[in-house]
Amino acid sequence: MSAQQFVVGVTGGIGSGKSAVTDYLETKGITVVDADKVARVVVEPGTSGLAAIAEHFGRDILLPNGALDRAALRKIVFDEPDERKVLEGITHPRIREEIARQLSDASSPYVVLASPLLLESGQSSFADYVVVVDVPESVQLSRTMTRDDNSEQLVKSIMAVQLQRETRLARSDTSISNEGTLEELYTRVDALHADLLRRAQA
Ligand code: ADP
Repeated sequence: MSAQQFVVGVTGGIGSGKSAVTDYLETKGITVVDADKVARVVVEPGTSGLAAIAEHFGRDILLPNGALDRAALRKIVFDEPDERKVLEGITHPRIREEIARQLSDASSPYVVLASPLLLESGQSSFADYVVVVDVPESVQLSRTMTRDDNSEQLVKSIMAVQLQRETRLARSDTSISNEGTLEELYTRVDALHADLLRRAQA
């Protein structure tokens, strides 16, 4: 990463509108590094990450085609904190390394690191500036249920392990409201983008 690279962390709870914001910034030529995608890349077939997982958890966590059987692995680590720690010990350093690599490859005026767990995971240490996409919990719930066709109970259980709205807001540098229409959101993102360009140059 060049010393001048300005990294903007974009976070928010599930269904808050992170993708809506970052997809729009991409149309403006901003490179977006997606932590969720990185988490999948580091356990693709052929990676040292997947090899280490198979070595510890056994080949039963592999699908017939050699890819990671996420459901099987989730079952193993679900209520086994020690096993979860082993898994995270394999994945977290690789995720950080790959995020750093992708950030340093970026050449846009600033680069976005999009991560639902930016503030929870320590990934915010990559960010010079943290933006939270903010909506009331009721909106988060209804938009996620519609998008994923998931039950209220499931979405609520995901929300319960994420940071509370107020905590997230308190730990960010700024927030952008996504309570209204997408058009309203894009107008706000236009202003945010102009501000980020200024900050990146400063
Ligand atoms: P996240 O990436 O934070 O999980 P998304 O960007 O996927 O959230 O948004 C969640 C869902 O809500 C998506 O289906 C998206 O199309 C929809 N959505 C996002 N913003 C708005 C909005 N302002 N009005 C209506 N629907 C929206």
